[in-house]
Amino acid sequence: MITVKCPECNHAHSFNDQHFGKSAQCRKCQARLKIIPNQPVAPIAPAPQYAAAQAIPQQVVIQQSSDTSSTLAAIINLLFPPFGFLIQGRVGTFVLYLIAWFFSILLIFVGIGLVTTPGLWLIGIIDAANHKG
Ligand SMILES: [Zn+2]
Repeated sequence: MITVKCPECNHAHSFNDQHFGKSAQCRKCQARLKIIPNQPVAPIAPAPQYAAAQAIPQQVVIQQSSDTSSTLAAIINLLFPPFGFLIQGRVGTFVLYLIAWFFSILLIFVGIGLVTTPGLWLIGIIDAANHKG
């Protein structure tokens, strides 16, 4: 038995195997049916996936270009924190980090800054590196 679903109305039809490859008419909407199992339709389904897989590298290329600026910003935050955020155009973030750095450096005198400053430094690098365009 071959089960064929009508492409028009989705009505399921059953045909004997000897009708394989022949044409028939939908009993419900009179649309033309090709008597082939529904499975051969499946190879068509991976096609959009393949197209999507092809589209992904293009997206990666776009991401890479923004990753380049993220990498650059991370390197600058590594050497001159938090100026890397300015490269990313994140002025608000830059100001916030600058204030945090100011207090963190002040806190070095009471010891806490010895923990918060390296932390801030590290977070700033990760933050810049993870930022997407
Ligand atoms: Zn039909």
